[in-house]
Amino acid sequence: MLIIPKKTPPVETHWQKELANSFTTLDSLLQYLQIDPSSLPPALSNDVFSNNNNINIIPTQNDISIIEQHSNARRLFPMRVPKPFADLMQQSNWYDPLLQQVVPQQAEFVDKLGFVVDPLQEQNGTTAGLIHKYKSRVLLLVRGGCAINCRYCFRRHFPYQDNQLGQAQYQSVLEYINNDTNINEVIFSGGDPLMANDKQLAKLAQKVDNITHIKRLRIHTRLPVVIPSRVNNELLAWLTNLRIKPIIVLHINHKNEIGEALIEKTKMLKQAGVTLLNQSVLLKNINDSAEAICELSEALFEANILPYYLHMFDPVKGAAHFDVSKPDAQKIMAKVITRLPGFLVPKLVQELPRQPGKTPIDLGLEP
Ligand SMILES: *Cc1c(COP(=O)(O)O)cnc(C)c1O
Ligand code: SF4
Repeated sequence: MLIIPKKTPPVETHWQKELANSFTTLDSLLQYLQIDPSSLPPALSNDVFSNNNNINIIPTQNDISIIEQHSNARRLFPMRVPKPFADLMQQSNWYDPLLQQVVPQQAEFVDKLGFVVDPLQEQNGTTAGLIHKYKSRVLLLVRGGCAINCRYCFRRHFPYQDNQLGQAQYQSVLEYINNDTNINEVIFSGGDPLMANDKQLAKLAQKVDNITHIKRLRIHTRLPVVIPSRVNNELLAWLTNLRIKPIIVLHINHKNEIGEALIEKTKMLKQAGVTLLNQSVLLKNINDSAEAICELSEALFEANILPYYLHMFDPVKGAAHFDVSKPDAQKIMAKVITRLPGFLVPKLVQELPRQPGKTPIDLGLEP
């Protein structure tokens, strides 16, 4: 058998090159991970598509291979997996918790009742490039795309083309923030805001920094996790040369996502004075156990990151197979609080339309 060395030593690479080298087809990724396509689970049967809870019936096609049936889900949401992230996956394991977050699956064609295109109702009433839902903080959609396409993403149907912050929108967005002194924190979001280059980001951050009632700049990003070389000297320079306090909220769902290269980068960020937090999504068959959540929290702390939120899955169309029920989530967290110090327990929350902040989930514990 031919042994292909999987882990190459961490070298400084240009992150944009890594981005361009991402896997975009199921075949190429499975080949890289040495997963035999004939070992894939069978395609879903017709009754899965036509049971009572499912509103749309897209029958299984028997005339195409199983790998093609899964691969076809790329039409619903393109596949994109950077190599450094693939290097954190186990070889020969279709059920690897990292792989399962990013592989297109035939199950995405299941159209389940209650699972909708815009579960958070973000798509109406937003100023282009800006979401102002919570009083003191405003979300800027700096860049539409992401370095990785997570299949469970609640923004998988978001019309980024119409909402990306282009040069023309900058001015009105900054004016909006300038005119509302209730806002004290600006969040760079997306997509992934770190998909923008450092020159653009530095310029925008400086303009935000000039608004005197803003105290903090927060960046919601998954890029350092999937391409650690994104955390380069340019990024560190603009981020730490501001008056406002920098916070990075990463998105990590499983302890295996925390590799050596990321740990090196979070150490640099911490030394530069950046507060590092993490948000996760509770996902079926990926991190839906007390063990998985506890191990993740411990690994985050080792990497200088504190757990912040654990989000209940948002019911987005095509991703019902990731859903964890509320009673199950409550059971998991009831165990987690007995095993971790309070500062390592993420807040279990749900984002509901028209609420003034994230809604905490009551764990249903008896006094
Ligand atoms: C989550 C979110 C925020 C940030 O909320 P925090 O509780 O401060 O982390 C801001 N705006 C929108 C629209 C959000 O969804
Ligand atoms: S990185 Fe975040 S926004 Fe981008 S696809 Fe994944 S979950 Fe969605």
